[in-house]
Formats: sequence, structure tokens, C-alpha cells
Amino acid sequence: MAQRKGWWKPEAPWPKRAEGGKLVAITGKVLIDGNGGAVLKNPVVVLEGRRIKAVGVKGGVQIPASAETIDASKYTLMPGMMDCHVHTGMFNCMTFHNHRVAQWEVMPQLQQMYALFHAQNCLDMGFTTLRDLGMNSSRGLFTQELCAVRDSINAGIVEGPRMLIGGFTTITGSHLDLIQPRAMPRSGFNNGDGPWELRKLARLNILWGCDIVKTCASGGGGTDKEEPDIRNMCQEEIDAIVDEAHAFHKPCAVHCFTVSGQRMALKAGADTIEHMVFSDDETIDMIREAGVAVTPTLAHRTDHAIELRRQLGTSPFVLNKLKKLQPHCYNTFQKMYTAGVNIAMGTDMGFEPHFGDNGWELEVYVGLGMTPMHAIQTATRNAAQALRLEHELGTIEAGKLADIVAVDGDPLADIRVIQERKNIALVLKEGRICVDRRPGKSKNVVQVAEWQKIDNL
Ligand SMILES: [Zn+2]
Repeated sequence: MAQRKGWWKPEAPWPKRAEGGKLVAITGKVLIDGNGGAVLKNPVVVLEGRRIKAVGVKGGVQIPASAETIDASKYTLMPGMMDCHVHTGMFNCMTFHNHRVAQWEVMPQLQQMYALFHAQNCLDMGFTTLRDLGMNSSRGLFTQELCAVRDSINAGIVEGPRMLIGGFTTITGSHLDLIQPRAMPRSGFNNGDGPWELRKLARLNILWGCDIVKTCASGGGGTDKEEPDIRNMCQEEIDAIVDEAHAFHKPCAVHCFTVSGQRMALKAGADTIEHMVFSDDETIDMIREAGVAVTPTLAHRTDHAIELRRQLGTSPFVLNKLKKLQPHCYNTFQKMYTAGVNIAMGTDMGFEPHFGDNGWELEVYVGLGMTPMHAIQTATRNAAQALRLEHELGTIEAGKLADIVAVDGDPLADIRVIQERKNIALVLKEGRICVDRRPGKSKNVVQVAEWQKIDNL
């Protein structure tokens, strides 16, 4: 089925807010604007309310007399970062000893509280936008709970990053179904088989408020007794899902490990491909030509992440599978980078690593040969393009939303500086200071180390 043309509506998927407001001038040491060009020394970014009004250098840009100033002159200014693939509803290694115990012990209501907490940890580290590609719970799909986390942040009643929520739309026994233990009773309408059931499931997720339809064309990595190269859907089914998403002006994100999965997704007109893993040159070329963004999710393929999984009670079968997938993931990433595929940063953060450590993904990219500037762009401009939000986000330019991070250090010299909490000196989301760790200030989104793991107690 050919991609439906003209399905996309450019309005941002969050409530409209008042424009105009307070004038603020931020002075920095250098500016990485997200466009990939030379850095600007002694930059000044002028904000008006939630938007950027002007960008220039000290002395070159007019600072209105009434503007309040924010002194970030020791820091690198860069756009608020975006992680295009997280699962905040998953049981994370920083909050649980054992994810299997958590799946049986924790009710969806508490799981939802953790989803908010996980999202807040990301904002605390400069990630102002998260694309959360969905979850399930012991009681069925988790779309409504995640949408409520997003909406409570949008309403301003709790602090958190901007969130876009994916709704699981998959077949019985798919990779996403197997995130839950096989023996766990499934209640409600969680999976669909055949085009009409899957259309209904997509419609239900959209009714509940999802921003993205998330589906799955192949097996995956982190689940028991499942080989990653199995097919999870037939062409007729994926065509129906993508068509239904587009009919409601929603994009469709497809988990694909296999070349045949990637081909099915492209044929159906999918909007982003998640993971990739296995590849061939011809399919990589097809992906580039189609302008489809890929989210590689490499941080959780590393040895460190596999070790965290071991500590979380993951079975030896899965650990061995993850180790076997590792070289394919790294190799495919390098081939995609060389070929010029639009790579949008995503961690697949869930079980591991710790929420807030999202910046680790960029270290993996640089380790595989990507330049630090391009790595930063995967989490800024490229990510905004992949989410079709480049008119609002992704770069520091006049007219865009003022999502800005001030970093103590030079991420172009050492990409690891963004991983240390003390280096994330300021985080602004839509012009509002969410984090301020400059000397003498201590505004944080979360309090470190005041929580404890509650499973296995
Ligand atoms: Zn995922």
C-alpha cells in the first residue's frame, strides 16, 4: 500500500498556550544551535515568553532594556534534548531490584507514578521532550495511564518533559506482548489479529489519546524464549495499522529487527523505524530515499547495559541473545551513518540504563565514529525532524520554543559531559527554568537518592 499523501497536520500535538510575555536575555560562553554549523562565541539568546525572539552575539543583538538576564556565560548553550524512544512505564533498574517481581507486584496505578518519576529524571538531565513508545501493565494496555502523565505535565500540575505517547498496536504473541510474562493472564483487548482487529486496536489507542501508533514487525531483544528474526505481522496487517494511523493524522512507529520487517514497514508507509539491528545495503538505501528516520537504541546494547539486565534478574537466554545482537546493531549503525540515513536519537530506556542517563546513547554513537556535532544533532534537530516538530523544536532559532540547556563543559570536545548531573547547569522548557544548578542555586526536578527500591522487601 502506497503512503497516503497529505495526511499530516502540522499543528503541534499539545494544547495551545498564550504567546508573548516576559523578555529574558540569556548570555552564554558558546552556542551550539543544532543546525550543525560553527559554534557561536559569546552568544545572547533573547526570549519572549515561551519562544526565542532573537539569537546573536554579545554587542550584536539588541537586549531590550526591560529584559531580565540569565547569566550562563560560563556554559555551552544547546537545544533541549529529545529522546525518541523511551518506555517510562517500564520497571527500571534504578527503582526495582527485579523487573519480573515488579511486573507481578506493582499495580498499574503505581506503575503510572513511576512513569512520571522516570520522565522527570530525564527532564532533570536536559531532555525536554520524550517520545514514549508505550507500555502494557498487568491489567492490559497502558496507553491511558501514559496519556494522563503527559496531560498532567501539559496542564502544569506536575513538572516533567513534553511527552508524545505511543499506543501498542500488535498481534497476539508479538514482541511487545511478550514484555509481560507468558503466564500472566491477559485482560481486556490488548492484541489484534488480522487487519480489522488491528484497525480497531489502533482506533482504541487513538481514542485514549495516543500521539503515535506503535507497532512491531519482528521479534526483539529483551524477551524470553523469543528469537529476534521471527515475523510479527503480515503485510496486510501492517498496511491496515499504518493506514489507520494516518487516517487520524497520527504517525506510525514500527519496531523492526529484520530486513523483511523493514521492507514491510516501508511498503506500508511507516514514519519511523525503531532499532534496525539487521540490515542490508539496499534496504538502507531505500530507507534513506524514503526519508524515514531510524532510532538505533544502542545504549542498551552495550556490555554495561547487559550487566544491568543480569542484575535485574534477566534470564541467561536473553543475556546471550543481547550479546549476539550487539555487533549487528553497531555495524548497522555505522552503515546507516555512512549512507546518510536520518538518525534520531533514542535509548529504548526501560529496564536499563537509569532514567536520566539518556545522554549515554550519544557516547555510544561517538564511539562508533559519529562526530560529536552530529551526535548532538541526533538528539536535537534530527529528532525534531523525525517527530515532525522541527517548526517548533530542535534548534535555537528565532520563533521556536525556548527549550535550552546550559552545560558546564564542551560536549564537542567530550560528549560525556552531558551525562553528569552537576554539568547540566540550566534547563529551560518553553522559556521556564526547570533546573538551575548554577553556583548558589539548587532547583532540581527530582531529589537524588531519596527513593528506595520497593520490590523484594
Ligand atoms: Zn522500545
